[in-house]
Amino acid sequence: MQQIRAYNVKHSYNVSSFLEDYRLLLQRAVDGIWNNMVWIERKRKNFYRVKGSKKYYVTRIIPIVPKSNEFKNHYLRNLLMKDWRYSKHYVDSAIKQAYSILKSWRRSYVKGERRREKPTVRKKFVRIKETLYSYKNGKIKVSIKPYKEYIMFNISKAWFLRRARGEMGELILNEHYLTITFRSREKIKTKGSIAWDCNEKSLDGFSPETGWVRADLTLLFHIHRVYEIKRKRLQSLASKKNSLKKILQKYSRKEKNRAKDFVHKLTKEISREFKNYVHGFEDLRKKNMFSYSREHNRRIAKMNWKMITSFTSYKSKVKLLNPKNSTKRCSRCGKINAPKGASYACSRCGLRMDRQLNAAINLYLQMEGLSPSLKLFEELMKTWSGFTLIGDEADEGFNELKRSPRLMNPQNYESLFKTT
Ligand SMILES: [Zn+2]
Repeated sequence: MQQIRAYNVKHSYNVSSFLEDYRLLLQRAVDGIWNNMVWIERKRKNFYRVKGSKKYYVTRIIPIVPKSNEFKNHYLRNLLMKDWRYSKHYVDSAIKQAYSILKSWRRSYVKGERRREKPTVRKKFVRIKETLYSYKNGKIKVSIKPYKEYIMFNISKAWFLRRARGEMGELILNEHYLTITFRSREKIKTKGSIAWDCNEKSLDGFSPETGWVRADLTLLFHIHRVYEIKRKRLQSLASKKNSLKKILQKYSRKEKNRAKDFVHKLTKEISREFKNYVHGFEDLRKKNMFSYSREHNRRIAKMNWKMITSFTSYKSKVKLLNPKNSTKRCSRCGKINAPKGASYACSRCGLRMDRQLNAAINLYLQMEGLSPSLKLFEELMKTWSGFTLIGDEADEGFNELKRSPRLMNPQNYESLFKTT
């Protein structure tokens, strides 16, 4: 496994015009690819609308991105080289970056999460590959214009040099900071596995060592709720269209930032609490929970879960799991039931437990390559002291497991609540 660590160095170079030129270059690269995409019609299995008892499949137009060497390294490269006054390698970086922007746009578009709208490059930063700068005697030298202009960063006395491990990798330059990454192939001893089931209002984890862990996401839910109300209120006022659009954009930016802030704190906590654990999350790409146009809420939930997965992956090792049947399968005997409501009941073995916990146990089993069995279930529960079998129900063969999760709801999240 590869570990990447990043450190920031503040700088005082005036690079804003260079960054702006690079942003325009990158946008031109995106435009160049966009204008040469071919659109084909395709019926998609996952996209349909339901009217009465009939399903109507929606034909979608799917883009094919030009990838030939001829296009990429000749046509597009020559196009971008025109009027580029800086070092040539930035053009190659821009091409690479433009492809990755379009790739991720396409992935979301195909899933129906984004419109058929050309991506716009807004952020001003440049990625500098390890082959495109030099590092000698504690100094990083980045060329801006060939043989003429370069910027130098003396990091010989930087605090992080003692802590950083591995080789220096990509640099990221923005207006105020240079971010230096280090890659190491150091092996991390893992303690165990913990699987997480993501829901709208909670994140439920399970591992035999820790038992059931529940992280409260009510706050995150609330953040989105607050902005939804704000948006609705604003839309009902609907005055001047243009200014309305701007305010709505501002809201969604703020909403996203606030959600990000929450998820950062949450995942930091989780990674600290379950240090050296491998964290299992459902692979949302495989989770087909949305038909073409479904509620706004679910989209938001999905966005949150993606964020939780990716932020955790910066801090810990993450394994992606197949979500198929994780909520339906009985984690004790393996029967597929159709759960209703908050608790899970198995019609074969009589297991009754919290629905989310059942899902988390299933995900844990998958993570470890195990399949459910009565004996295994007993084993898993034995090591975890968080619950007991109780009373009459246990005697009747009903395994109503009385237990409570270990709650993670740190007080410092409260600061996120203070909305204006
Ligand atoms: Zn069962």
